[in-house]
Amino acid sequence: MSAAFDVIIGLEVHVELKTASKLFCGCSTAFGSAPNSQTCPVCLGMPGVLPVLNREAVRLAVRSALALNCTVRPYSKFDRKQYFYPDLPKAYQISQYDLPLAEYGWVNIRPSGQDVKRVGIRRIHLEEDAGKLNHLGQRLGDAVGSLVDLNRAGVPLIEIVSEPDMRSAEEARLYLTELRAVLSYLDVSDLRMEEGSLRCDANVSLRPRGYTGSLEELPRVEIKNVNSIRNVQRGIEYEIARQAELLSRGERIVRETRGFDDVSGRTYSQRSKEEAHDYRYFPEPDLPPLVLQSEWIEKERAALPPLPDAIRQDLIARGIPDKDVEVLVLDREAYQYWKEASPAFSDDRLLVNWMLSDVSRLLNAQGRTFGDCPVRPRQLVELLTLIQEGTLSGRMAKEVLDAMFETGQDAKTVVKQKGLSQITDESALMQVVQRVLEAHAHVVEDYLSGKDKALAYLVGQVMKETRGQAKPDLVNRLLKEAIRGGQTVSG
Ligand code: ADP
Ligand code: MG
Ligand code: ZN
Repeated sequence: MSAAFDVIIGLEVHVELKTASKLFCGCSTAFGSAPNSQTCPVCLGMPGVLPVLNREAVRLAVRSALALNCTVRPYSKFDRKQYFYPDLPKAYQISQYDLPLAEYGWVNIRPSGQDVKRVGIRRIHLEEDAGKLNHLGQRLGDAVGSLVDLNRAGVPLIEIVSEPDMRSAEEARLYLTELRAVLSYLDVSDLRMEEGSLRCDANVSLRPRGYTGSLEELPRVEIKNVNSIRNVQRGIEYEIARQAELLSRGERIVRETRGFDDVSGRTYSQRSKEEAHDYRYFPEPDLPPLVLQSEWIEKERAALPPLPDAIRQDLIARGIPDKDVEVLVLDREAYQYWKEASPAFSDDRLLVNWMLSDVSRLLNAQGRTFGDCPVRPRQLVELLTLIQEGTLSGRMAKEVLDAMFETGQDAKTVVKQKGLSQITDESALMQVVQRVLEAHAHVVEDYLSGKDKALAYLVGQVMKETRGQAKPDLVNRLLKEAIRGGQTVSG
């Protein structure tokens, strides 16, 4: 790139933890219930109530931190972050400030055509979510009013703050995808961006070549709450272009928070960015410090499931092509499907190939995922075994798979019902071969006089007679044998 600057990106990712109850009270965290039906004096911010920390939320946060290679602090504490907004009835959020739960982690990303790149994670802290405002109108600007729903207030969140290590919108996309994949294997969150259980703010700045100051001091823009990974990427791309244009005109970039409009693909100014001191952080007096025993932390570490990097190595060692490995690893349900099927089948390449082509195509068409695939791993293995044994051709197997998707039936049942299956019985097939040879004596002569193409024609005739159920290479061999045999007899 010949531009006079480097792109600098750091992401702040919020992840709602999948606990049954909220972070500091017993209210349910279920999504989509009637507004304000999951509230109590604690999460409504009534005076005189006391928060009690949810142990399971701490466990899920620690699990996430360990999987992201962070160091978990044996001693962390909670702080009040004050701001006034109707989605926050206490007028402060309980979060963690100077002593977060975990620090110094990383995620590896694989930019295409480049080496693996490590993106640092600065910190992970635990905090409570705010409520949700539903504006009555097309947009906030012309809303006639706003309704407050506090079901989300107090739901446990972790905030994962990256180092400003990403250098393009593509790297940001890869980081988010990898982060989400790691968390998906931990089962700590629903990770649904459209429901807000995974949210991302992107910080973007341009560093002029030759700049030697600290990155923190570069004026940066924070793009808030974008609702899909694709839009995070679009927002960053727009922001890079916008800032580059300002710089090229010799104008300054102001530090601010910007929204993203997914229709126009543009970011727009929302407010100038508040600084930490604006929040008047101070230690939460109603909660004791969070002290974690190292034995307990190590027990959680030992209980981590296999994670994407280890899974990649395993899949590559099995001879599965790199491209397919990536698709499998990033889709936990697909990986689990493969894992269930694989022990029962000898050819992993064939298995993965069918999963990622034909099965995926049918799943997409029905808006389903591998987790609720109507053809279970065992059933797919049975189908693929029929191909391996030569009972079905690839083409026939596709037809069988379609029917299995429709009906949920096993491969063998479909094969029987449709009267499919390749004719592998040689003597049955030989009778058809003889009939075809008799009916096309002149073609046989052509073949004998050296026209190799004539044989292909004869194969085609046999396939037609058997409605495609014969194995072409077997037909080929039987035809040659029969022709040779005929010669000897007549000659
Ligand atoms: P804030 O309270 O301002 O959101 P945080 O510490 O929570 O601050 O997050 C700051 C984020 O900004 C981090 O993800 C960090 O990587 C990122 N960041 C820091 N400097 C830059 C920069 N020059 N350009 C882009 N992002 C940056
Ligand atoms: Mg922040
Ligand atoms: Zn409550």
